[in-house]
Amino acid sequence: MARIFCIANQKGGVGKTTTAVNLAASLAAAEKRTLLVDCDPQANATTGMGIDKQDLDATLYHGLIGGADGTQLLHSTDIEALQIIPSNVELIGFEVEMMDTSGRESVLRTFLSGLQDRFDYILLDCPPSLNLLTVNAMTAADAMLIPLQCEFYALEGLSQLLQTIKRIQQGLNTRLEIGGILLTMFDKRTNLSHQVAEDAQRYFKDLVFATTIPRNIRLGEAPSFGKPILLYDAASIGAQSYIHLANEIINQHSPLSVS
Ligand code: ATP
Ligand code: MG
Repeated sequence: MARIFCIANQKGGVGKTTTAVNLAASLAAAEKRTLLVDCDPQANATTGMGIDKQDLDATLYHGLIGGADGTQLLHSTDIEALQIIPSNVELIGFEVEMMDTSGRESVLRTFLSGLQDRFDYILLDCPPSLNLLTVNAMTAADAMLIPLQCEFYALEGLSQLLQTIKRIQQGLNTRLEIGGILLTMFDKRTNLSHQVAEDAQRYFKDLVFATTIPRNIRLGEAPSFGKPILLYDAASIGAQSYIHLANEIINQHSPLSVS
């Protein structure tokens, strides 16, 4: 059974998609069967994996709305163990079309249940909002991964996110846990980055991943080539840090760890 991670923060541009794409690639490179699901109508994860979002017959939207079989939505990638279910702007329709449907928060969970046996990890890239798509991702997930950009106001809005997690844990998904807080775009030369890291550690303690993701130009460039950083510049510090994160996650729930 796959372990499902929802990568979410309602703040925009904090590194959700960069983390989803590159963590997925790094898990797959470690020979874990991995599925990346693009749950954002912006479809940056789709583009970042080199898929032309204008040129898709079927996307996640068709899986959620039309009952398309998940296995038919899988796209292979240049990394053997990595597959993706892409999206495009059509996914915006999901919220409106589900308006009067009961159980609308669990549609993604039901959809993924048919795929869980095929994978070790499923990563859900969320939009920058706490809308119905994000609620669906949180309802389907075993764990939340929260990217936190090392900038002023980084922690602002987090209490709203934590409230939402608590609400979901009390109702829709009792097994949801915080898989970790990931510090992104860390710049070791600035006091601000260190300050945000300290604040996060004081507040969230060992929920903060030991791995931090540095600000790295190569990470910003890779999506325009439609590639995860591992296939663009494997030696870069950005690539190395996501490999490190993947190892940390693999060891979190390895059969050897006692918890
Ligand atoms: P959105 O909320 O719009 O979905 P997001 O949270 O998914 O955004 P990303 O798209 O991953 O954020 O990142 C925002 C921008 O910052 C992108 O241009 C991305 O390439 C860049 N970026 C992300 N992480 C890094 C990093 N560690 N170093 C340099 N650039 C980065
Ligand atoms: Mg994104």
